[in-house]
Amino acid sequence: MRVVVFSTQAYDRRFLERANAGGRHALEFVSLPLDLATTGAAEGAAAVCAFVNDRLDRPVLARLAALGVRLVVLRCAGFNHVDLAAAAELGLAVARVPEYSPYAVAEHTVALVLTLNRKIHRAHARVREGNFALEGLLGFDLHGRTVGVVGTGKIGACFARIMAGFGCRLLACDPTPDPDCEALGVRYVGLSELLAAADVVSLHCPLTPATRHLIGAEAIAAMKPGAMLVNTSRGAVIDTPAAVAALKSGQLGSLGIDVYEEEADLFFRDLSADVIRDDVFARLLTFPNVVVTGHQAFFTEDALAAIGETTLANLDAFEATGQPSHPVSVERLA
Ligand code: NAD
Repeated sequence: MRVVVFSTQAYDRRFLERANAGGRHALEFVSLPLDLATTGAAEGAAAVCAFVNDRLDRPVLARLAALGVRLVVLRCAGFNHVDLAAAAELGLAVARVPEYSPYAVAEHTVALVLTLNRKIHRAHARVREGNFALEGLLGFDLHGRTVGVVGTGKIGACFARIMAGFGCRLLACDPTPDPDCEALGVRYVGLSELLAAADVVSLHCPLTPATRHLIGAEAIAAMKPGAMLVNTSRGAVIDTPAAVAALKSGQLGSLGIDVYEEEADLFFRDLSADVIRDDVFARLLTFPNVVVTGHQAFFTEDALAAIGETTLANLDAFEATGQPSHPVSVERLA
């Protein structure tokens, strides 16, 4: 099957080609992101392969369908950027990688928590300047502290297990509690109780209409003053200007984010010689108690290998049966 892979980085190509043993699909790699202007690259292809910041709204999907594309394979878990209703109407199948390595994302979340708490980012810069003073680097023991996990699906549950190992008290909120988490000692509460009690709040829910700006001014005001907020789910779960205001007032003690609501114009490229025009993002980078990574939580060898395998399995199944092995249907966008 001919497949055009958009937003290709060198590592995507390496891992997808490795999974495409025997060259059973004709993969064509395009470094440009998928949007209305770039859809032409998909002419004559049966499928397109897209990533988290590719545009998959109604006009793009309609253009792809008109060009003969029948399948969109996402090489990610989140599908918030796909107009699933439009895809269904246009007869386009959509597939994703529902699980590749929850450990990759959960472990990166822990890295953000530890970095913020023990100020590793500042300590590293200081030591390289020959400054070995400790003032300003004071952290706290995670042992005995309360960690609130918003969303205990695959990644949130894995994060909870790691934090249980640190000796943390665990609270969670999720419309579908996980019995394994409960067995671990996680107590399910409502979001407001979680926010009021947690020293660290970590977001692991998907981005849906219901979770967009779930953590806005009101939710942040309900948090324990000085608490840490970490987000490795999707940027728009946090209302970023509200977080900036709370960092300025001190209500938010620290913020660690791997995702940002306007990341599509920034992440996955080298902009080091450019001026950042996003003032909210630029303001975030000025805080000593903010750590930003550029959507790299998934980025481990194990995860990329699994993404490659599942993406190719979706293509194989679609070619053989007309259905991908991991379809996303319109009902999922609740
Ligand atoms: P999952 O579907 O296994 O779990 C999501 C959980 O969130 C479910 O248990 C669901 O019931 C819960 N949930 C839904 N709405 C909620 C709400 N309003 N409040 C609390 N919980 C709610 O998904 P997952 O594999 O654990 O991934 C979670 C998210 O992480 C994905 O949707 C994706 O956006 C993000 N992600 C980020 C990266 C990265 O590199 N930063 C990589 C993979 C996934």
